[in-house]
Amino acid sequence: MSQRIAILPETLTNKIAAGEVVERPASVIKELIENSLDAGAVNISVEINGGGRRRIRITDNGHGMSREDALLSLERHATSKIREDVDLDSIMTLGFRGEALPSIASVSRFSLATREADSPEGTEIVVEGGRVRDVKACGMAPGTVVTVEQIFYNLPARLKFMKSAETEIGHVADVVARMAVSRPDVAFSCISDDRELLRLQRSDLQRRLAQVVGKESSRHLYPVDWKDEYSVITGFISAPALVRSGTQAIYTFINGRFIRDKVVQHAVMQAYRGVIDRGRYPVVALFIELPPGEVDVNVHPTKHEVRFRRQTAVHDAIQTAIEEVLRSSPWLAAPLAAPQTSSAATGQAYRERIAAAAQASLSLPPRPEHRAQPSEQISTTAAAPSVSPERCTAVSEPSPSFQSEQLPAEPAGYFSSLSIIGQFHNEYILCQSGSELVIIDQHAASERVAYQLLKQQSQSGGIESQRLLFPETVELSFGEVAVAVKFGQDLAGIGFELEPFGGTTLMVAAAPRMVARKAPISLIRDILADLERFGTSAAFNDAMESILSRIACHSVIRGVHLLDNRQIKELLNQMDQTDFAASCPHGRPVSHVVTLAELQKIFKRT
Ligand code: ADP
Ligand code: MG
Repeated sequence: MSQRIAILPETLTNKIAAGEVVERPASVIKELIENSLDAGAVNISVEINGGGRRRIRITDNGHGMSREDALLSLERHATSKIREDVDLDSIMTLGFRGEALPSIASVSRFSLATREADSPEGTEIVVEGGRVRDVKACGMAPGTVVTVEQIFYNLPARLKFMKSAETEIGHVADVVARMAVSRPDVAFSCISDDRELLRLQRSDLQRRLAQVVGKESSRHLYPVDWKDEYSVITGFISAPALVRSGTQAIYTFINGRFIRDKVVQHAVMQAYRGVIDRGRYPVVALFIELPPGEVDVNVHPTKHEVRFRRQTAVHDAIQTAIEEVLRSSPWLAAPLAAPQTSSAATGQAYRERIAAAAQASLSLPPRPEHRAQPSEQISTTAAAPSVSPERCTAVSEPSPSFQSEQLPAEPAGYFSSLSIIGQFHNEYILCQSGSELVIIDQHAASERVAYQLLKQQSQSGGIESQRLLFPETVELSFGEVAVAVKFGQDLAGIGFELEPFGGTTLMVAAAPRMVARKAPISLIRDILADLERFGTSAAFNDAMESILSRIACHSVIRGVHLLDNRQIKELLNQMDQTDFAASCPHGRPVSHVVTLAELQKIFKRT
């Protein structure tokens, strides 16, 4: 029988490899920018025509290549970035597979022009469908220019999947934005046909982000600066007021490499749970630094996915780093409409003070140690002079009768430092802070306070329970009875004692003290329905958060309710002792600021 198996020619294996690495013009651009960055370029320009389908050109001012290296770079598995097996465990460059250039060159009309700084001339290599057509000397500035024309011209199956030029331009812009955020110290430009999509000078992360996510949005960003013995996490995250409908503005980088990873994304969203609505996503630029051996980037040809050696440690570090910022609601100290200032330390110091006050009075579990040095990058989002924390404290003269209630040693937090104007519609609390009108949703605020108390109780031994004077019965579905039985112990841990009462009826003998005075039947139904949705196989802990927020919601007075000044003051004090006080447990905002300027505009005083 004749031979059936043959080793494929290299032009074909390159095409096959291209199938993985080169999906569309944007993926070509990603690979080429990575090469430019690895070559030490600080200036990278991207030009595309027809969405990149007609032509892509990347020009960099990196270290370039000699003629020999340039020829070698087009061979499969030719790389200057690793040499032996062990190097795979400590990859510090963006590339290492030695596949991009030959893959791209095999599915396009390709040219590589490159010159080393100390060489009098450059070399240009022309390749067509993977075959070298010409090698010649050329005059050029030091660096490298790669031109890719008619991508997939010899791969009709791929060509069919290309989308409209506009769609491809969108993908290209995303890639360039991502790379630009990853390296603010590098200048980038991106021109599509004759339209300039992006021109970014060398800068720092904060300014770069302002250019990429928009100046207005960047004012809602707060610095993350966190460290433990395993990882260092820095970057910026958005206040809950700034959300997007998709994950497009979540930029996460592991050791400088943009990645799209489920674990990382989950950690980010977990930190924002209960602070923003479901289906909304924050703006995040997070740089996670891990020892290179702790992360395997050799998982997928596009290198967008990684594998962590200690997945849980990474997850928890990211979640904690973000929560550290969110729990002290720093945006309260820096009203968003206020003019920018350079008082870098104030916002940070204020956050720390609030955090310290909250920690002292609530005796929360100790937080992991972190680096809380004020970074220079805080400057433009920190407190404004007109409303600096010191000033907040100064303007808010609480009436003498309430002063005695304040703990003398503790600095006043944001909420307790507000001066109370009164109540509106028996639903909203109106306060003043300097030249600002602060409106607080009293229901949402009480709910957050109650939620935090429940959470604290549940973490330290269990939620206070109270036996009902007149136990009530509740009729349930079979499914609900099943979860009630399965989670009987857990439910007792949060204060509910449910006893069988024949058939599918249960008797509620005890309930959390917070809700015991109200008939908790509808609450029980809701909780059991929640648990049923999570499924009997899920851990009780998965549903805990939503159960606690249900109890909190049930425990507070709904709708209109008259509060006197003393009750308002008490609520404001409690809010300062509560983490994440700026959002109710469902993620809705608790307070809203109207500035004097906004009012003057309404009354046409300006
Ligand atoms: P990898 O980046 O994985 O090494 P590539 O096929 O992308 O593989 O590139 C092959 C080699 O060509 C690189 O290792 C590098 O030495 C060289 N090279 C590619 N692009 C550039 C560039 N823009 N400037 C300088 N050298 C480059
Ligand atoms: Mg590469």
